[in-house]
Amino acid sequence: MPLSRSEIERYQRQLLVDGWDQEKLKSARVLIVGVGGLGGISATYLAAAGVGHLRLCDCDTVELSNLNRQILFTTEDVGKPKATLAAHTLAARNPETQIEAILHRLTAANADELASGCDLIIDGLDNHSDRLILNKASCDLRIPFVYGAINEWQGQLSFFHPPKTACLSCLMPTELKSPGPTPVFGALPGIIGSLQATLALRYLMTGEAPLSNALLIFRADAVAFETVTFEKRAGCGVCGKTMPSSPRR
Ligand SMILES: [Zn+2]
Repeated sequence: MPLSRSEIERYQRQLLVDGWDQEKLKSARVLIVGVGGLGGISATYLAAAGVGHLRLCDCDTVELSNLNRQILFTTEDVGKPKATLAAHTLAARNPETQIEAILHRLTAANADELASGCDLIIDGLDNHSDRLILNKASCDLRIPFVYGAINEWQGQLSFFHPPKTACLSCLMPTELKSPGPTPVFGALPGIIGSLQATLALRYLMTGEAPLSNALLIFRADAVAFETVTFEKRAGCGVCGKTMPSSPRR
């Protein structure tokens, strides 16, 4: 669908970026699960960039202790539902983006339905067990998955698109139990959420996925990035089932 005059004006500066494809973004549909520290940032940049449809899923309400990092919300928002607030704020930022707020909790039973029809899944979650549920939906439906996580002074980022790449379960198959809340300061999810948005925009416009089978690690204490590569895990019970080479019964 061609861009309107106001869209051309709104996106004027990014339309100057080499290789930018606004019409592809306009036709894209993205699921973001969790709109807190990570998901609130990626959702903001994807809405501002003009991704056509964002489905925001978050069952939580705003708590005072969220506000050191969840910059979509203000002190007045404490007690209100995050997904509804995020949809309202982002719709005001860019009315060209259709935004859907889903206040249900992500479960193994509803994950496929939540992701159905989307071109990309973005992980804005705060725990590994829910990430594994989302990863399974990505594998089941063959929808690419932008993983992001933060803990204390370290952030991580990767891109999974089985059967072409490994999945999250190949890399971290088990639930990681942490005692108590994750230590976090706001700038770190700001950086990782921005990188998730960057990776998502790049994939949606070009089909390229720079972090396939690679984990980007950001060490905030040293302000340094490193990338480690990994392979599909033989016998992965999640993406293995979608591998074309796997024996069928
Ligand atoms: Zn796997």
